[in-house]
Amino acid sequence: MKCQYQKCNQKATKTWALVPLCNVHRDKIDCETIDYYISTKEMKYEDREHYLKIRHLTPWVS
Ligand SMILES: [Zn+2]
Repeated sequence: MKCQYQKCNQKATKTWALVPLCNVHRDKIDCETIDYYISTKEMKYEDREHYLKIRHLTPWVS
């Protein structure tokens, strides 16, 4: 299984929200999610650039 991030050809090693991702992209999305929910940085939904690239692949997209 390949990483599902756009234009990434790495092998998927983990999943995030059931989406297969390589280590690099999984870490990026992890950090971004923490920033979005926990940190005091003023991040808007549209600022979640990594998440938005895989959002259409997550099971809870409506
Ligand atoms: Zn990747």
